[in-house]
Amino acid sequence: MIVIDQLSKVFKTNEHELKAVDDLSLSIEKGEIFGVIGYSGAGKSTFIRLINRLEEPTSGTVEIEGQNITSLSKHELRVKRQEIGMIFQHFNLLWSRTVEENIAFPLEIAGTSKAEIQTRVQELIDLVGLTGKEKNYPSQLSGGQKQRVGIARALANKPKVLLCDEATSALDPETTDSILALLVDINEKLGLTIILITHEMHVIQKICHNVAVMEAGRVVEQGNVLEVFSHPKKPVTKKFVEQVM
Ligand code: ATP
Ligand code: MG
Repeated sequence: MIVIDQLSKVFKTNEHELKAVDDLSLSIEKGEIFGVIGYSGAGKSTFIRLINRLEEPTSGTVEIEGQNITSLSKHELRVKRQEIGMIFQHFNLLWSRTVEENIAFPLEIAGTSKAEIQTRVQELIDLVGLTGKEKNYPSQLSGGQKQRVGIARALANKPKVLLCDEATSALDPETTDSILALLVDINEKLGLTIILITHEMHVIQKICHNVAVMEAGRVVEQGNVLEVFSHPKKPVTKKFVEQVM
């Protein structure tokens, strides 16, 4: 279980302060697919980056399976981060490395033996459906295939949590569906908790169990996807529902 308690992030620029995440509290069950939806600037990326401390919170706590990650030292955080994989809208692959070398990268950093890396990389390539593409470079792959590499790399160290920041926003609808199906497959096979942020309602509708709607750094509505979207209360939630009607 992930417990977020009164989490805030204030960015200070020259003259003014901006509360990108504003007193946000929510709980995410182990093994669920939790969606966060909101318009551009709502604070979604900042929120997800606070979960693995790519951003340091201004106040509040993030607890992952009983451990408060906001109080970990640099070294402890490095170890903890192996439990948290992340994928991105623009894939963030290493362009000078092949598919298998990209996937091996986090294993090399974790100090895994060569033999183990080889077995693990092949497992991951099969899991994400990239068999035969081992020696390709990212530039030789389609968008969907690049995201599959991103997913395999994120799973390399067997994380318990997968953070997805607009993971399908750069993909066409059909490829989006195939990546969402892969995420569901991984969620079911590995029991992985997935936190997925998006501005696309159909993504939430297709694979999420619970959802939080964000606006101006705050969660304005949350709960079971069917309930939230069959009885939307806030104007922003109503707008998202209209997207798919
Ligand atoms: P999008 O859908 O466009 O990706 P988002 O919901 O992910 O938007 P964030 O990227 O979290 O939104 O940004 C929330 C607010 O915080 C925005 O107003 C943004 O300009 C601001 N912000 C984000 N990162 C920084 C930063 N490093 N310094 C200053 N302001 C920032
Ligand atoms: Mg964002």
